[in-house]
Amino acid sequence: MAHYYDDNTIIFFDGKFVKASEARTDLFGQTMHYGYGAFEGIRSYKTVHGTKIFKPFEHYARLRHSCQLLGIPFDYSVDELTQISYQVLERNGLANAYLRPLVFCGPNMSLTAPKEVSLMIAAWDWGKYFSHSSLKVCISGIQRPNPKSLKMEAKACGHYVNSIMATMEAKERGFDEALMLDINGNVAEGPGANFFFEKHGKLFTPPLGSILPGITRKTVLEICHELDIKVEERFFKPEELFDADCAFFCGTAAEVTTIESIDGQPFRKAWKKSLGAVIQEAYHNIVLDRSYSYVIV
Ligand code: PMP
Repeated sequence: MAHYYDDNTIIFFDGKFVKASEARTDLFGQTMHYGYGAFEGIRSYKTVHGTKIFKPFEHYARLRHSCQLLGIPFDYSVDELTQISYQVLERNGLANAYLRPLVFCGPNMSLTAPKEVSLMIAAWDWGKYFSHSSLKVCISGIQRPNPKSLKMEAKACGHYVNSIMATMEAKERGFDEALMLDINGNVAEGPGANFFFEKHGKLFTPPLGSILPGITRKTVLEICHELDIKVEERFFKPEELFDADCAFFCGTAAEVTTIESIDGQPFRKAWKKSLGAVIQEAYHNIVLDRSYSYVIV
């Protein structure tokens, strides 16, 4: 079983710092039954300037926005949430960590506005080493949900039923990860990460609509701007990927993850020579608070 806490782990839970092992919740909560809740996935890094949470304001602004889109009352400010998060890290002696804030709703078995809303923020160790794995990806048979049915901009708990189904399907078919399409057959994103590909010296990524507006995706766009790498947000079908030069996933947990092949088809460029590798290195430097501007020749 995965190990997220032990007897000494402290979490923030509804205004207090409590032991994770002693925290209790109600089995009749709306989030538990219907997936009606919102969460975030945030990382902290041990940087040259001490422990730094990467883009906490962006993550907590998204959490507040998710709650607003879903109609969940949530009053904490971005500043408060950031301070609490640093406290959680400090009380648990964590530096390289993953933070998981969850806004969940109390007992209410009817399909009506939530009556009680809770917040928990937990954190666990997430080693300092970047994963250099490269993934065999398949085009998933599981589509992203219709953006007219759900608020796809929200990081809502229930949306992850779709992600879990897609990951399971990919693994059953012998792949490492899924790449999902939107309802029109355009490439959208992975189950927990956004997607980019390179062709003819330019990067492409799907526009917002059926994807989570990733904070890493935005960071990648900023890196492109900074390093003068051409990047275009537009729709594309999976066929366009089969003569691409490279592709990668990006996300808080995934960071910048190399994609080795799609449906068994490898890319034209060696990863080390691709724009993906440039973005990967720049991203690592940014999260570790190091300078990253250099000339690409
Ligand atoms: N898409 C989905 C479906 C995700 O779950 C995530 C991870 N939060 C991402 C994209 C990447 O978002 P971010 O860069 O903000 O972590």
